[in-house]
Amino acid sequence: MASPTIKLNSGYEMPQVGFGLWKVDNATCADTVYNAIKAGYRLFDGACDYGNEKECGEGVARAIKDGLVKREDLFIVSKLWQTFHEKDKVEPICRRQLADWQVDYFDLFLIHFPVALEYVDPGVRYPPGWFYDGDKEVRWSKATNQETWAAMEKLVDGGLARSIGVSNYQAQTVYDTLKYARIRPATLQIELHPYLQQNDLVRLARAENIVVTAYSSFGPTGFIELDMDRAKNVAPLMEHEAITAMAARCNKTPAQVLLRWATQRGLAVIPKTSRPAVMAQNLDCTNFDLDQADMDRIAKMDLNLKFNQPTNVSAIYPLQVHYFPTDKLWIFG
Ligand code: NAD
Repeated sequence: MASPTIKLNSGYEMPQVGFGLWKVDNATCADTVYNAIKAGYRLFDGACDYGNEKECGEGVARAIKDGLVKREDLFIVSKLWQTFHEKDKVEPICRRQLADWQVDYFDLFLIHFPVALEYVDPGVRYPPGWFYDGDKEVRWSKATNQETWAAMEKLVDGGLARSIGVSNYQAQTVYDTLKYARIRPATLQIELHPYLQQNDLVRLARAENIVVTAYSSFGPTGFIELDMDRAKNVAPLMEHEAITAMAARCNKTPAQVLLRWATQRGLAVIPKTSRPAVMAQNLDCTNFDLDQADMDRIAKMDLNLKFNQPTNVSAIYPLQVHYFPTDKLWIFG
């Protein structure tokens, strides 16, 4: 099983279906990455904030040592955390992340959020998380997105990243980046599922030749693990009668229908699971088609419902930085 690829504006090919690494336990992470490579995944979506890059690197190193893959077969994605947005902090932390992964370049390095927080020395706490004191104090940094993007471009110049991109950007931050980018963002990674379809943002990205990666394709499912009320109070997408009916008709699982809805629209996906049989199932989401009636039905399911915002995890997060006018929710990212 192999994923089709999508050509990025940087000239590199990116697998359309990859493997997500958020909330993968440190204890099982190396095995999970190894098993995912065995199942056929070639793209791995990591981040400093996931706190498991060292273990990801161990899984990759073992797979290479065992002859499952070569480095050049893999497409390794990582992300710059908020506390490293100042221009002199970007390269050193990228080098540390590369060392954790045991590789000498990232295929894609993303700005995780368009938010800059005061530097926390990785020797003091790593990953640093949102709070300066590791508890509840938020300290903003004065680094602008422009300053950070210029430092990201230098990673490409220096061969540390082949492509660079952004995550959790909304239209205005994308347009702003395009004003000063010497190297354009190759991808935009955003929360996207039938309850949050982000059609305007997807249109914008297409028009600007930026590939969209949809994260949290299963909507609430990934957030129930965080005990998030907003996720528990909505019908699970995999149990939604429209999705289960399509799955029965296509002889696929509801998860495959949700992933196909995205991949059929040309989006990349990065589902996460620790179960090898489910890994294979999720990877197999590009070789069937939903018909137009199915696509139209799913289009009607949009609730503009975003899960991945800090205030949904804890009301004490004083991080309301983006207002989404259409549903009167505070949206982060
Ligand atoms: P997800 O949408 O992939 O859902 C994961 C949950 O679905 C897990 O509970 C898993 O057990 C379950 N699941 C997976 N496949 C299944 C199947 N076939 N049948 C039944 N259940 C299944 O969740 P996610 O982890 O939120 O998102 C995926 C990835 O996206 C992350 O791991 C991460 O790499 C990335 N991500 C990025 C950001 C960002 O800010 N850029 C934010 C969130 C996630």
